[in-house]
Amino acid sequence: MLTLSQIDKMIEKGNKSLRKSIINSTMSDIIRRIKYKCDWENKEYYQVDRYYASSQICSRCGNIKKEMKDINKRGYECENCGLMIDRDLNASINIMVEGLFKEYRYE
Ligand SMILES: [Zn+2]
Repeated sequence: MLTLSQIDKMIEKGNKSLRKSIINSTMSDIIRRIKYKCDWENKEYYQVDRYYASSQICSRCGNIKKEMKDINKRGYECENCGLMIDRDLNASINIMVEGLFKEYRYE
């Protein structure tokens, strides 16, 4: 078994394909563990689409701001409703709401 520092070095120094593979396998392991915990605790698990634009959508009014693709912009300011909020908090709220909507959709 690899240590976390060994995995960090592989991500840092490995080629692009290896990095992507490591990150994807780590993420899939995290998701597997969360699903397991949800089953164990008898809770529902919902996963939003990987391309869901959580950081571009205003969590108050739903306005879409395409320039939020720039990861260096740390705050979200909505020109439609005036909301000023931390980028990650805004994205977290959007993901939570998207997950709750998924619960009530019939698919
Ligand atoms: Zn807004």
